[in-house]
Amino acid sequence: MTPYRGRFAPSPTGPLHFGSLVSALASWLDARANQGAWLVRIEDIDAPRTVPGAAEDILATLERFGMRADEPPVWQSQPAAQALYQRAFEQLQQAGLVYPCGCTRKEIADSLLQAHARNTTLAYPGTCRDGLHGKPARAWRLRVPDGDSAIVTFQDRWQGVQTQNLATEVGDFVLKRADQQWAYQLAVVMDDAQAGITHIVRGADLLDSTARQIYLQQCFGIATPAYMHVPVVVNEHGEKLSKQNGATALDPARPLAALIAAARHLGLDSGGSPPATLEDFYAAAIAAWAKKTAMNA
Ligand code: GLU
Repeated sequence: MTPYRGRFAPSPTGPLHFGSLVSALASWLDARANQGAWLVRIEDIDAPRTVPGAAEDILATLERFGMRADEPPVWQSQPAAQALYQRAFEQLQQAGLVYPCGCTRKEIADSLLQAHARNTTLAYPGTCRDGLHGKPARAWRLRVPDGDSAIVTFQDRWQGVQTQNLATEVGDFVLKRADQQWAYQLAVVMDDAQAGITHIVRGADLLDSTARQIYLQQCFGIATPAYMHVPVVVNEHGEKLSKQNGATALDPARPLAALIAAARHLGLDSGGSPPATLEDFYAAAIAAWAKKTAMNA
């Protein structure tokens, strides 16, 4: 059996908050409960959204909270990673799977609105599939298959069986953005493969991206890892907690209280007296996680 390799992949758009702590903790507990390695990748691919100093801050907070990566963290902005995405993109291009797209956001939004009015698909309508119609190339898209080959099904370890039709629900998706940044979907697939990740544990807000990632893995002949999408933390308006909607940074001086709350969010209420130290917390949480996920399996 391939040894377990998991990861936490924060985007450095601000300090670690309670929502990202839940994802970090879930991936950490799953790796530890399976005697696996736990890695950290800084997803700073989206240069315009990256906040200087946020990555260092996240790494320091993780460490403070008792989660230290088993290997040095990798950064998507590193030249080696950028070269990896470029090679992957060229491979898809050579296979005839990539085409340039000249649509602006507004044009896509307009055609989606029309589709919505007709109560049909909300996927990218494929406007540039057969040519740019005289428009300049902006982004680059991956051609998704038609018919039954567009259906991706996978077993999520938390959410159960998931199915998405890439053609009708997503459409040809962006690999390289109009601002010349690599798209998250391409980068995450190449990074996880490069790091030999076998198990992905992350927030359920990424459930919708997983079929795209599995399809990309299939294009490259990469083995699909096991997926688990844990419930996201929402604010009082039911929105996912994020730096954008004002989630507050964790207090590095009080790791235990936040960890206990994060474990409770994951349904790991141990019932006993609250742990007094980080060691006690992790021992109980790893055991509770092993029990819970064995039941899910
Ligand atoms: N960087 C992504 C985020 O912070 C996570 C990506 C992933 O786990 O695949 O939402």
